[in-house]
Amino acid sequence: MKHLVLLGAGHAHIHVLSTLATQPLPGVQITLVAPYPRQLYSGMVPGFVAGHYALEDCVIQLEPLLKNTGIRWLARSATALDADARSLTLDDGSALSFDWLSVNTGPVQDRKQIEQLMPGAREHGLFLRPIEAFGALWPRVTELAQSQALRVAVIGGGAAGIELAMAIRHRLPTSSVTLVTGEAALGANYTPAVQQRLANALTQRGITILSDSAVGIQLGEVALASGARLACDVPLIATGAQAPAWLVGSGLALDEQGFIAVDACQRSCSHAYVFAAGDVSTRVDQPLARSGVYAVRAGPALLKNLAAAVAGLEPSPHLPPANTLNLLSCGDEEAIASWGPFSAQGRWVWRLKDWIDRSFIKRYRRD
Ligand SMILES: Cc1cc2nc3c(=O)[nH]c(=O)nc-3n(C[C@H](O)[C@H](O)[C@H](O)COP(=O)(O)OP(=O)(O)OC[C@H]3O[C@@H](n4cnc5c(N)ncnc54)[C@H](O)[C@@H]3O)c2cc1C
Repeated sequence: MKHLVLLGAGHAHIHVLSTLATQPLPGVQITLVAPYPRQLYSGMVPGFVAGHYALEDCVIQLEPLLKNTGIRWLARSATALDADARSLTLDDGSALSFDWLSVNTGPVQDRKQIEQLMPGAREHGLFLRPIEAFGALWPRVTELAQSQALRVAVIGGGAAGIELAMAIRHRLPTSSVTLVTGEAALGANYTPAVQQRLANALTQRGITILSDSAVGIQLGEVALASGARLACDVPLIATGAQAPAWLVGSGLALDEQGFIAVDACQRSCSHAYVFAAGDVSTRVDQPLARSGVYAVRAGPALLKNLAAAVAGLEPSPHLPPANTLNLLSCGDEEAIASWGPFSAQGRWVWRLKDWIDRSFIKRYRRD
């Protein structure tokens, strides 16, 4: 029997898996390779850090989703891919061959690369990815904060860093929070109006914003490019994400940053039997922001094209929207909305975000 491998349980694959339970693909064996038994939904992580959600509220368990689908789950990670040979190497050294491969593994925080830019990060930094590991470590920070006021430095001025700085402020009111934004503007991917809202929200919550770059981390301090040293007990590294190193040498066409180059059908530009969606991929026809929203949107199209590939039919293009609604939480029950040139702010935005996020989890929860 032909073999389809789904690599990673990212947003798009969660949709694929949930649909296969009721609409199976005939004549194909399917294997899911994903290291954790559940998918932690990143959009709710700031709410978890702020204390609005328990970790359990933010996860989709995989096993209930796979029940009665006949899909085999391997609790493993891919460490190498030979696309020409149609073979994956897993973290136990075993090889897994496939006829079709669909990749939705998300990005990584490349420890080696970050260590070069910020010596000491590996030993002293708290990394955001893998997000499962962060979810397990965060409660230790809150425990520590019960016995002493902590000095927290969030390194990275993108959406994740900004949301987390405000979430930490809310959760640990006696601790100090500094956001180290690096060279880029605060919230650089957003319009000037949203950037202003973000800067105001941070300042109003007593968060210190440093337009400086972290160049090293030692026990108790972060070294900055200006030469200053920032006293810090918890350096949280939120400096963005990179392409997984295991794609190098895979033979797949990659973009200049090492992400899988895909066409409008989410199909590899070099290997027609490989598909990819979410942050691990780059659409060459229409480069999209890396976001959970786009990863979710790709799910139905990905499933349709996997079904077409298995049936020997031509895939069809996926047309993502030009603008997506981005909702940035402010730690307390307020949030900022950004959609194209428009923005808004308030408690109602938080309630909308909470409703959207909880609905996402509910849609895919089978336990
Ligand atoms: C704190 C935070 C908050 C965010 N909030 C938002 C938000 O509100 N809205 C938004 O749109 N975006 C948000 N993002 C961005 C969002 O997290 C990413 O864009 C999104 O996770 C990408 O989804 P994905 O499906 O590509 O991959 P992921 O969600 O990262 O899923 C990848 C899956 O693949 C698995 N995997 C990883 N490596 C391997 C491997 N080698 N082999 C097998 N499996 C593997 C992982 O365990 C995981 O299950 C946020 C990010 C962070 C860090």
